[in-house]
Amino acid sequence: MTASSAERTPNIFIVSGPGGVGKGTIVTALVERDPQLWLSRSWTTRAQRPGEKDGAYVFTDRASFEARIEAGGFLEWTNFLGNYYGTPTPDPDMGRDVVLEIEVDGARQVKSLHPEAILIFVLPPSREEQQRRLRGRGDPEDKVDQRLQKAVDEEPVGLAIANHVVVNDDLERTVGEMMEIIRHHRSLD
Ligand code: 5GP
Repeated sequence: MTASSAERTPNIFIVSGPGGVGKGTIVTALVERDPQLWLSRSWTTRAQRPGEKDGAYVFTDRASFEARIEAGGFLEWTNFLGNYYGTPTPDPDMGRDVVLEIEVDGARQVKSLHPEAILIFVLPPSREEQQRRLRGRGDPEDKVDQRLQKAVDEEPVGLAIANHVVVNDDLERTVGEMMEIIRHHRSLD
């Protein structure tokens, strides 16, 4: 390995988009397909959903989250509908690129700290499909309504700062399109 490749700065790929667009499924597929991608695991104070994998987040309490904020241990964090969500300062293995799956306020923060980060903003194929996905998660009805409203509010903000916009109409096609975007940016390294 040459000195320059050993010191390669990781690309940061931010996958953002309103709730119910399928970001989680997309990033899981991306990291399965490309071993050079390193998926950040967020911290949250949200309760774990029934059936949700233990590894989906580091589930924590407010005091621990706030202690980590104080210690400067987050790249970004936000309060999303009453719960904290944050990206621990990334520490990818050598040569791998970072993938963050985060909401729009976090994406904005990462873009201002790292203007070279690549923001891929994912849109739902339709409002109906987005609502169906949001309702299918087992959240209480009032939470679903809040998430729907938040999704509508987030969209224009995300579109304004996105480098790429992808419509998740078909998972296989969407993942393929995103791999092309990733390959393109790597070719510029
Ligand atoms: P959920 O509760 O549905 O898992 O996540 C709510 C929202 O928070 C989603 O849009 C998700 O992408 C986003 N999110 C997950 N982790 C983080 C994080 O570390 N930082 C930020 N800013 N948003 C996150």
